Amino acid sequence: MELKLEDDSLHDDVLIQLEALRLAPERPLIVSDADEVIFAFVRSLEGFLIENGNFLDLQSFALSGNIRNSETGEPVSAETVKALIGDFFDQRTEQIEPVEGAADALAALSTQAQILVLSNVPLDRLAARRRALVKHGMDYPLVANIGRKGGAMAYLMARHNAPVFFLDDIPHNIASVARVAAAVTRVHFIADHRLRDLLGAAEDADIRIDDWPGVRRYIETRLRAQGY
Ligand SMILES: [Mg+2]
Repeated sequence: MELKLEDDSLHDDVLIQLEALRLAPERPLIVSDADEVIFAFVRSLEGFLIENGNFLDLQSFALSGNIRNSETGEPVSAETVKALIGDFFDQRTEQIEPVEGAADALAALSTQAQILVLSNVPLDRLAARRRALVKHGMDYPLVANIGRKGGAMAYLMARHNAPVFFLDDIPHNIASVARVAAAVTRVHFIADHRLRDLLGAAEDADIRIDDWPGVRRYIETRLRAQGY
């Protein structure tokens, strides 16, 4: 699917999943991305690439152009990047490692807020991702999003009467939420130490925090200030 630069619409396959959620509108809601926030995507992908004759040479906040063939040292084509990432999701979604502190912070936050994982995992890997969450102590509802995340967040925000928080590593998702669900508190989070140094805070984020104890403190403080 080709995405337009500012396409904040909600895909039908995402809408069906959102409609099936049972959320309490009066209880705060924390919506977290998975890759590079809850799961150590780049670190896990890196191991997979090496096994497949490639390596990651992170020169920018992107995979395209930064995956190189181990023998030639040359960047692989955009098509190959896409195929490798597809293979990674097919073969390793369930084995991916969690980000340090994520499970503990979410468990603590879940005493006063609902947790929802909103991930652009391919739809056919939804069950595998759920198993990975459960395996690492994060048995929370999971929605497989398609495209930018503003559409899903606007849907949730319109049905919610309590504070809503959103965490993601990708600036265009944060921008999308800012455009169509501006009342959501947006946290820009990048778990990988190398990746985080390649990118400043997203322009449309309320705050940049790259560690889970920090996220926990920030959300708890915000909720307290709002009387929760
Ligand atoms: Mg991500």
